[in-house]
Amino acid sequence: MSTLSLSESMYEAIRAHGEETYPHECCGALLGRHGEDGWQVVDAIKAGNMRTDSAHNRYNIAPIELVRIQRSAREKGLEIAGFYHSHPDHPAQWSPTDFAEAHWLGCSYVITSVAKGKATVTNSFLLAGKTEEDKRFEQETIQVGNAPGEQSEDLEETTSIKEQR
Ligand SMILES: [Zn+2]
Repeated sequence: MSTLSLSESMYEAIRAHGEETYPHECCGALLGRHGEDGWQVVDAIKAGNMRTDSAHNRYNIAPIELVRIQRSAREKGLEIAGFYHSHPDHPAQWSPTDFAEAHWLGCSYVITSVAKGKATVTNSFLLAGKTEEDKRFEQETIQVGNAPGEQSEDLEETTSIKEQR
């Protein structure tokens, strides 16, 4: 099983985005680096939900936004790690539409269930397989907070401040 790692603030931001857009779906992209066990998410980019026909159960990132996201990733030396969206009043499980519209093999698809405006369960699914015909979603572990980065650095700073006192 692969693991999606991200900081607590990023995890909360993704979930909060789903609460903001409720009762519509939110969506966005995740930027990061690939580690041994899976993606290490470093940045999350909000995208506008361009679907107007049925924004409560459909999501899509406009091609022009995707170009902007890819450029931003390249500038930061990161890759597109995956995408996230919310399921207003529906479980945090992928739908047949989600599967049909998922084409980024090797990327993580994060889904947050938002029940009555409150984010509940968040799950991540790796789009495994070598080809479009062979693709499948595999649920992965979400590791929050242990990301090497902001949290551990914060702890070190706190420690050094205490030592100075
Ligand atoms: Zn969905």
